[in-house]
Amino acid sequence: MIIVGLTGGIGSGKTTVAKLFESLGIPVFYADDEAKKLMQTSEILKSKISATFGDKAYLNNTLNRAYLADLVFTDKANLNRLNALVHPEVKRHFINWVSQQSTPYVIYENAILFETNSASQFDFIITVTANIETRIDRIINRDNVARQMVLDRINNQWKDEDKIKLSDAVIVNENTVNLNIVVKNLHKKILSLSV
Ligand code: ATP
Repeated sequence: MIIVGLTGGIGSGKTTVAKLFESLGIPVFYADDEAKKLMQTSEILKSKISATFGDKAYLNNTLNRAYLADLVFTDKANLNRLNALVHPEVKRHFINWVSQQSTPYVIYENAILFETNSASQFDFIITVTANIETRIDRIINRDNVARQMVLDRINNQWKDEDKIKLSDAVIVNENTVNLNIVVKNLHKKILSLSV
């Protein structure tokens, strides 16, 4: 089975792209969702996070997202620490999930695929890009957040040009693009790799 990594910075539209692959019958593992779930359910992970970031990381046994977000999105070292704790747990779950799939390929969707040094684990990597102002507008519209918050996240992620160099395919997802067609073509290409 081909393991495809799908990445792109905040607001690039990688989840939108992932949903289109799903509509073509390709299973997608959403690493961010899985990470959030595990931070709430995995006792091992919870104790590691509390030990690293303090007891305030959980309030009444519930992840204190605001507290953690403040720590990790303003300080890259904290972000790296959190990723180093969460990523191995997510990876374990992904390997198990893959073993349950039977399609010619599966997709692992993750904003920080390169940042977590995971690139070597994929047979094919797709990076979704869009210009920065478009991405900022999308996130402000989607999440009703401050421009500075989006910029902080963008600055904590790799630059598109560095991701592109290490990718097998790039989807330039400006608002004018016909994503359906782009995704269908890429789907055919990946299928052709599996025969
Ligand atoms: P995040 O890293 O925050 O999860 P993402 O890369 O997964 O972001 P999406 O959630 O897929 O991004 O897209 C962000 C917003 O932009 C969504 O509201 C989505 O509907 C919109 N969007 C994505 N692609 C396009 C497009 N081609 N044209 C118009 N809007 C788009």
